[in-house]
Amino acid sequence: MDRLIYLDNAATTRTAPEVVEAMLPYFSESYGNPSSVYSFAAKNKDAVTGTRETIAKILGADTSEIYFTAGGTESDNWALKAAAEAYASKGKHIITTKIEHHAILHTGAYLEKRGYEVTYLDVDENGVVSPAAVEAAIRPDTILISVMFANNEIGTIEPIREIGQIARAHGVLFHTDAVQAFGQIPIRVDDCCIDMLSASGHKLNGPKGIGFLYIRKGVKIRSFIHGGAQERKRRAGTENVPGIIGLGAAAQRAARSMEERTAKERELRDHLIGRVLAEIPYSRLNGHPTDRLPNNANFSFRFIEGESLLIMLDMKGICASSGSACTSGSLDPSHVLLAIGLPHEIAHGSLRLTLGEETTREDIDYVVDALKEIVARLRDMSPLYEDFVKKNRQ
Ligand SMILES: *Cc1c(COP(=O)(O)O)cnc(C)c1O
Repeated sequence: MDRLIYLDNAATTRTAPEVVEAMLPYFSESYGNPSSVYSFAAKNKDAVTGTRETIAKILGADTSEIYFTAGGTESDNWALKAAAEAYASKGKHIITTKIEHHAILHTGAYLEKRGYEVTYLDVDENGVVSPAAVEAAIRPDTILISVMFANNEIGTIEPIREIGQIARAHGVLFHTDAVQAFGQIPIRVDDCCIDMLSASGHKLNGPKGIGFLYIRKGVKIRSFIHGGAQERKRRAGTENVPGIIGLGAAAQRAARSMEERTAKERELRDHLIGRVLAEIPYSRLNGHPTDRLPNNANFSFRFIEGESLLIMLDMKGICASSGSACTSGSLDPSHVLLAIGLPHEIAHGSLRLTLGEETTREDIDYVVDALKEIVARLRDMSPLYEDFVKKNRQ
């Protein structure tokens, strides 16, 4: 294929060349186990601590509050399961939302089977969780509130500071899945009263299979993986040193370039949204019109199947994602699109385009031109569209 336009950066990103560069020596030169005593290996402990410091600084946290994990999914699982267990004597009620990532939703379902009660809050038509609804859901037995910082499908940024303040005022632990937000939005854990925060390397031009969980000092949380004394005995297992180094390099890089990079992405995203809504009939933007991730655009096209759209975009070298979970083997429309009130048939015709640091205006124009042509072609083949046109003519 001669042309590849990658607009699926919410799924994963390219590991930046300088991140790879930073990781390489830790595979075949500095390969020692950080737990070993001799200086050859002990150097690696310092390198791991360096990344811990880098991340702590970005979040306004303490170095001892950063725990490395194997990614966002593990961090989410740890936060929910371990907090649920540690605070069970206080209560067994957890509050979250209907638009969380499956790493939260499926963990919630797991806890429900084990005697916990989980409230899944509704969102409004833009995908916003209401802080008042969070407050109203709090009960004496509520032990944890988990609300994502920004949604991975529709890009909506949640009122995390308000929700954090409410949780704090009621003495309830507050976790946020910041996997999409970390590196794209400035986050200070104290400012937002965050007690636990999940993030992942591969969403910010870092490597896959590495992430972290921020756990505020004083939070009672159980060990997640039992074994050696790594990660303050809370998450055992020999450190993924190259991954940790890569995560640190990526986080540093993302923090440094944040303003400039997100300004550029925002401008290109708005150009994309403007052109699609103006030039493709019966299209709509999903998610909040302004409070959204700088790189996220999510559209619905009436009378179209998202899967057909993806296949035809793929033939033009365009990588995108649809609003259904088909790729993961189910034909259900996305739970997020249903939660914002889209009817099934419109949720099925959805498309997520997520920009990256390498996306150009030329890419966007190429994609919009391709989309216009594909949407028109698919509608020409759609009996639903034919009926609709006929009815409108009468
Ligand atoms: C990608 C993602 C995850 C999962 O992270 P992994 O590192 O891929 O396990 C969790 N939550 C959100 C919001 C995500 O976008």
